[in-house]
Amino acid sequence: MKGRFLLLGQISHTFTKEMIDKMTYFYEDNTERGPQGAIFRARTDNAVITAYRSGKVLFQGKNPAEEAAIWIGFTNETTEQVTSKESKPQTKKSFHPPSNFYTNSHIGSDESGTGDYFGPVTAAAVYVEASQIDTLKKLGIQDSKAINDHTIIKLATKIAEMKIPYSSMVIPNDKYNEFQRKGWTQGKMKAMIHQGVIDSLLNKLGPVHSAGILIDQFCQPPVFINHISREGKTLAPNTYFITKAETHSIAVATASVIARYRFITEMDKISDMVGMPILKGASNKVDQQIAQIIERHGREILPNIAKVHFANTEKAEKYL
Ligand code: MN
Repeated sequence: MKGRFLLLGQISHTFTKEMIDKMTYFYEDNTERGPQGAIFRARTDNAVITAYRSGKVLFQGKNPAEEAAIWIGFTNETTEQVTSKESKPQTKKSFHPPSNFYTNSHIGSDESGTGDYFGPVTAAAVYVEASQIDTLKKLGIQDSKAINDHTIIKLATKIAEMKIPYSSMVIPNDKYNEFQRKGWTQGKMKAMIHQGVIDSLLNKLGPVHSAGILIDQFCQPPVFINHISREGKTLAPNTYFITKAETHSIAVATASVIARYRFITEMDKISDMVGMPILKGASNKVDQQIAQIIERHGREILPNIAKVHFANTEKAEKYL
């Protein structure tokens, strides 16, 4: 039976002080009594993690590689951040991409539809080569929120013509409402769809020259990692997070255009289905439109076309 034990491997890796601080913070709720000289010991579904003062961290148990992968992807970052003992470590800075990142070939991801009552959540991940950056900039690619629908469709066509590799996904409304009912926050759904499009694109690409992956940040990176690792996913190596990423990265801006394009396409399908042009956003006008749709099709249509936990569902009642 000796061979069995070989399956239960262990991984040892030495981390910087900043990484150890980050890990201490991340595993805060899962710690248990550790051996002498350990900074902490924590237990997750994947592994038992023991961090030592030397910077050495041991991942042992069922799935140590998966647990270690959460952290090993970040080790080649440069950060001069000093964390005092009193304050919790700020994770923001160390997840930032290196300064030469944006002018090199890289992957970017973004999502769409999260603030709209009607329609799904969509996301896209895009791989942009260094040589394509200028062409994409000249097309006028920027944050999709600043571009009207007509231009989004034109840009999406141009991106397709350039044969830029990408992956996109949709969380249809019925799925969204199901996830929501079982306790997933919108943040968790966003994390899962971001990682979903990234994994799918990485698969499609195979080995390519890339400076890494940039995610348009919508929550603290450790929270993102927590969301995906609970569903058995891990962050790819060299994944970075930054807010307003589309203003720095053409790959994220391109991803935002494709995600928006898919959202618009799905909204058109819903408009056809209900027989009226469906409104974007979550304003009072949306409340009135919900009432119209209920009158025409009944309440039972809503879970298939809308994010029903939004306050709009309730507010529509006064128009009925
Ligand atoms: Mn975004």
